[in-house]
Amino acid sequence: MKELLKRVRGYSYEELLDRAFSRIPVRDPSKGVVFEVPSIETIAVGTKTIVKSFRNIAHVVSRDEKLLMKYLVKELAAAGSIDEAGNLILSGRFSAQVLDKLLRRFIDTYVKCPTCGSIHTVLEKSKKTFKLKCLACSAETTLPSF
Ligand SMILES: [Zn+2]
Repeated sequence: MKELLKRVRGYSYEELLDRAFSRIPVRDPSKGVVFEVPSIETIAVGTKTIVKSFRNIAHVVSRDEKLLMKYLVKELAAAGSIDEAGNLILSGRFSAQVLDKLLRRFIDTYVKCPTCGSIHTVLEKSKKTFKLKCLACSAETTLPSF
């Protein structure tokens, strides 16, 4: 089991480069706050992928963990659940690289204000759309729901 975990955690040079870029902080021009995109760590167990500290990632991006899970499972066409420790368990095998990209896309669309770039936003859900409200510049953006 230990050997298996080691192999799963091993990254190719290109993946390492990609992960280095994934740590590039997102700047908030309104407050100068640097927002570090959390890097995803995964463990493959059988046909499942465990996303470690998923609850913490959702907390860092200030979004509901169930909403973030819903986004990921829809994009991956997988089933998912969150365990008691706050890890996300996905059916199927997915690389940390793929999950990192989806997380960044989620942040760009559903966290960052498209008007001023602030990450101090709230997401309001209605039936067919989401409304992203910026706490820095008060802009409201209507987004497709998922
Ligand atoms: Zn804004």
